[in-house]
Amino acid sequence: MPDVFAGRRRVPRPENDPNLSYAPGTPARTELKARLASMAAETVDIPIIIGGKEIRTGATAKVVMPHKHGHVLGHFHKATEEHVRQAAAAAVKARREWSSWSFDDRAAVFLRAAELLTTTWRSTVVAATMLGQSKTAFQAEIDAASELVDFWRFNAAFGQELLAEQPDSSHTVWNQMEYRPLEGFVYAVSPFNFTAIGGNLAGAPALMGNAVVWKPASTSMLSAYYVMRLLETAGLPPGVISFVPGDAASISNVVLDHPDLAGIHFTGSTGVFNGMWQKVGQNLGKYRGYPRLVGETGGKDFIVVHASADPQEVAVAAVRGAFEYQGQKCSAASRMYVPKSRWNDIRDRMVAMMQEIKVGDVRDFRNFMGAVIDRKSFDKVSGYIDDGRKNAKVIVGGGCQGDEGYFIEPTLVESADPNYRLLCEEIFGPVLSVYAYDDAKWSETLDIVDRTSPYALTGAVFARDRGAVIEAASALRNAAGNFYINDKPTGAVVGQQPFGGARVSGTNDKAGSKMNLIRWVSARTVKENFAPPTDFKYPYMAEE
Ligand code: NAD
Repeated sequence: MPDVFAGRRRVPRPENDPNLSYAPGTPARTELKARLASMAAETVDIPIIIGGKEIRTGATAKVVMPHKHGHVLGHFHKATEEHVRQAAAAAVKARREWSSWSFDDRAAVFLRAAELLTTTWRSTVVAATMLGQSKTAFQAEIDAASELVDFWRFNAAFGQELLAEQPDSSHTVWNQMEYRPLEGFVYAVSPFNFTAIGGNLAGAPALMGNAVVWKPASTSMLSAYYVMRLLETAGLPPGVISFVPGDAASISNVVLDHPDLAGIHFTGSTGVFNGMWQKVGQNLGKYRGYPRLVGETGGKDFIVVHASADPQEVAVAAVRGAFEYQGQKCSAASRMYVPKSRWNDIRDRMVAMMQEIKVGDVRDFRNFMGAVIDRKSFDKVSGYIDDGRKNAKVIVGGGCQGDEGYFIEPTLVESADPNYRLLCEEIFGPVLSVYAYDDAKWSETLDIVDRTSPYALTGAVFARDRGAVIEAASALRNAAGNFYINDKPTGAVVGQQPFGGARVSGTNDKAGSKMNLIRWVSARTVKENFAPPTDFKYPYMAEE
């Protein structure tokens, strides 16, 4: 739109979207239950969407409920290599107009999407996340509704802040910084475990004026499809985000070979990101510029407990931090270090809580946990539990039932060897491994925590002794990008705890912050001179 508004406009000040409780008797619960029932009775046909056009290839894959894997929720059509080329071309074309819109007009699309998501679309996106990714009502709520609303609203405000950052000028020279979108298109590749991440990986570069080819994970296709439809409903122009489901490796082969690839916005496992980075390195000569590589990857998140910690606070944080969403949060507590003098007490409290946890179909709201995402994950996690039975001690849990749904009990494993593989490797399931250390070896234990795994995503220290907190925060300075003191290491909130880790946990560009948005622009510095010199000679050259 032409610049008809005088002066600078301000996007509405963002506030975190309040979570609905879905407690018995609330209207939200009634609405969600009705949407769950209607969605379970449908079979959705999910197309590829390129340049606003729906495409159906006939080569499809099933979308099922992980907690009832015989139940088909829909089918998605898989893109061929030719479709991927079309999506890249559609992005390059759409970018021309989209990048010429003012930031405010682009932000308005995402602010409208956020408003729709928090109202009329809420139960649909939450229900799709529950059924397709096996999240409980509350876990789906904090992800698919609140976090995605927050990403879209806060990014609009952070983007505006970024644009306001301008260099110094004087009465003769006006210096300006223009935040241009990248030349080409951005490739967004999202993981299964957070609906919000898909909406942000595609949304953040688009907000900054880029066009995006979005490849969602096959195991979160239902919610991703509804997010795409929601963005279209909010007024996102065709081609700004193309929706390209299908085989990850073959889609990536075409995209990473494309001369217009300007950036990758990835969240998923370390191995996949490393593969993409290597491919980009090999293809460097083919691109018009250096693609921006932003990836948030794996974790082996820790809780380290000092002898001064409150045992009940530790036990609750460990149970919630390790087992909510079946331990499939990148931030989930996966290894814990407890002083021997406190271990029996903390263990007994945890075991009592874990025995109360119900695992099952997420439509039964009494369940605290649903199923793990698919057969591959079920086999991987049960393999780790078998290893725990042979080489360590399974204290509670360990049951795996895959016939109807991919159910794995919350599992606590104790090992006397701090280098045991369950204390080092990312498992991505409901398994918490514990090492009980000698109370006198607090400082040495911090060193073990720091060195044990190559990741550095999240971590927590529990202590009442302030000196212990200070020592842990210092010793573990590089061991986590999100560090918690007397709190569980999960549940980061947009605008409050910007999220991301270092080492092999990612590029740490902090999703939902200005740091992330900076990656999607390439600045142009413009100097305008109001008084250009008229003599080539400098004063020092004059005769004495
Ligand atoms: P994944 O790596 O298997 O898949 C992520 C995405 O990459 C999916 O869209 C997948 O289809 C795609 N993919 C798979 N193989 C590919 C290839 N060869 N080329 C290109 N794309 C490919 O991860 P996942 O199982 O969906 O998610 C779990 C992982 O994500 C865990 O490692 C977890 O720690 C990580 N994660 C990290 C964060 C974070 O913020 N650091 C957040 C969420 C998840």
